Amino acid sequence: MEKPQHKHDCSSCVFLGRHEDKDLYVHVDNDEPLMTTVISRWSSDGDDYSSGLKFASDGDLRVAAERAREKGLITEEVWSYYEEKQWKRFTNN
Ligand SMILES: [Zn+2]
Repeated sequence: MEKPQHKHDCSSCVFLGRHEDKDLYVHVDNDEPLMTTVISRWSSDGDDYSSGLKFASDGDLRVAAERAREKGLITEEVWSYYEEKQWKRFTNN
């Protein structure tokens, strides 16, 4: 089992494994499912991460989103919301 290589201090995040040099997480918001997000962290410094399902059209965050979806941590409702509302604009050009 892969372990995170960098410090990440959110206890709500679920580790999704590594991708290249990044630690990938999903942060599930049970109260506001559409606030669920994915995170890609590349160092232990607090700000050294990117996040946001709306940016998950490709790259690390896309990998994180797909892994989270496979594990059922991103629901179909959330997935389709972002596919329709957000990811579309990245794929239409
Ligand atoms: Zn978190």
